[in-house]
Amino acid sequence: MAEVATEVRKLKNYINGEWVESKATKYEDVYNPATKEVIARVPISTKEDVDYAAEVAQAAFEKWSKVSVAKRAKILFSYQQLLEKNKKELARLITIENGKNTTEALGEVGRGIENVEFAAGIPTLMMGDSLANIATDVEATNYRYPIGVVGGITPFNFPMMVPAWMFPMAIAAGNSFVLKPSEKTPLLTEKLAELFSEAGLPNGVLNIVYGAHDVVNGILDHPDIKAISFVGSQPVGEYVYKRGSEKLKRVQALTGAKNHSIVLNDADIDRAVTDIIGSAFGSAGERCMACAVVTVQEDVADEFISKLTEAADNVKMGNGLDDGVFLGPVIREENQKRTLDYIAKGEAEGATLVRDGRKDDLDGGYFVGPTIFEGVTTEMTIWKDEIFAPVLSVIRVKNLKEAIEVANQSEFANGACLFTTNTSSVRYFRENIDAGMLGINLGVPAPMAFFPFSGWKASFYGTLHANGKDSVDFYTRKKVVTARYETPDFA
Ligand code: NAD
Repeated sequence: MAEVATEVRKLKNYINGEWVESKATKYEDVYNPATKEVIARVPISTKEDVDYAAEVAQAAFEKWSKVSVAKRAKILFSYQQLLEKNKKELARLITIENGKNTTEALGEVGRGIENVEFAAGIPTLMMGDSLANIATDVEATNYRYPIGVVGGITPFNFPMMVPAWMFPMAIAAGNSFVLKPSEKTPLLTEKLAELFSEAGLPNGVLNIVYGAHDVVNGILDHPDIKAISFVGSQPVGEYVYKRGSEKLKRVQALTGAKNHSIVLNDADIDRAVTDIIGSAFGSAGERCMACAVVTVQEDVADEFISKLTEAADNVKMGNGLDDGVFLGPVIREENQKRTLDYIAKGEAEGATLVRDGRKDDLDGGYFVGPTIFEGVTTEMTIWKDEIFAPVLSVIRVKNLKEAIEVANQSEFANGACLFTTNTSSVRYFRENIDAGMLGINLGVPAPMAFFPFSGWKASFYGTLHANGKDSVDFYTRKKVVTARYETPDFA
């Protein structure tokens, strides 16, 4: 049951606590990918819209940065309560605009709320440090201050969690924010803004400008926007990082991935199969932490592939709002077509198609059935490229060393998982794999909000990652006061 609208609603930007019409001359359709229905129209806003939002955010920053940290934390606590209360509605919106199933959508809402909870700890997180006696009668104190207006640019695959990596901590630290959500999944952010306002956030502290390239460039170039958080694909992240840095801004860009899971002879194979099915096909493979490649040790490869294929056959595909559906659609028709082209390319390049997701019933929405290749090599396009869809490659390897050599050839290095019962293998894996987020006997090692989301290589550009203490550092600047106090003779 999608948002049925006789006349499709046109979204407005959210600036200074009001829904304001964009200056856009162009609007794009927002689809429910499970039904292909148009559920809203999103403005492709202009540079002028960004300029207005930045001006408002700069004025709001002057006041918000002076609000006591205790008061800011209280607003975060109220926001957390409101998000909890509206959890089901938030999850429903995610399923409608993104396609992931209700359980996954609820999980995403939970992960987003976790970020708000972490940010509510801002009084202790923002504490500086001091040293009483650095020289005779001299002490030093390190204070943290917000930086100003922060710009956030987010992808379609986590409409709640990814924006929540950014604006709650930035705002808790005393900054104001201009958010540009993905034009493919803009609906949820309306609700996020409304609830924050209801929690007591002053107008102008959080602003939303919907759109695409022009809004991104407007954010990158605006002199009052001092820091930029980006999450999205590798080429766009590289562009954002370079252009933002050229403008002398602080930039973090979390980008693409091609995550490998390694299954060793001594692993619990049933557990590995269940976790890898969840990781490779959950959220239709549209996760930066999705498993895209499995390297499996030769002795257990036949058993693993046969159990994996059987489990993939039992995956229920459909509208994520329906009971029991595990695999929803990919986001748009072009993503579906691109995926089907990759499957054809995998076959043409000589991989063996063990399970062909093109043969499932793909009608009605932008569906692609669970697809498994084996006999994949590192020369093949399906191994190199981030497909971002329910397509999994399997490679047989002799041992852990070879499995790690395969994974380390990838240009990406977001996450990697190991399935084993041997602790020495765990240590060897941890020490030798090129990836910033590791999983041991689990499928999706996405760190909780209080740890950094720490991709390496082409999966990340910048120094400070999203989340954890890195995010406090990213959204604050420091002032160190060195002071001399004459010691009078009190005797
Ligand atoms: P995308 O790069 O197409 O879009 C991300 C954002 O950039 C959107 O807001 C979009 O409007 C904007 N954008 C797109 N093209 C642009 C251009 N040419 N110039 C300026 N701005 C542009 O990414 P997506 O398809 O929305 O999301 C999927 C990607 O995000 C995948 O590559 C996935 O791995 C990545 N991702 C990474 C992480 C991480 O933590 N590393 C998390 C989630 C998603």
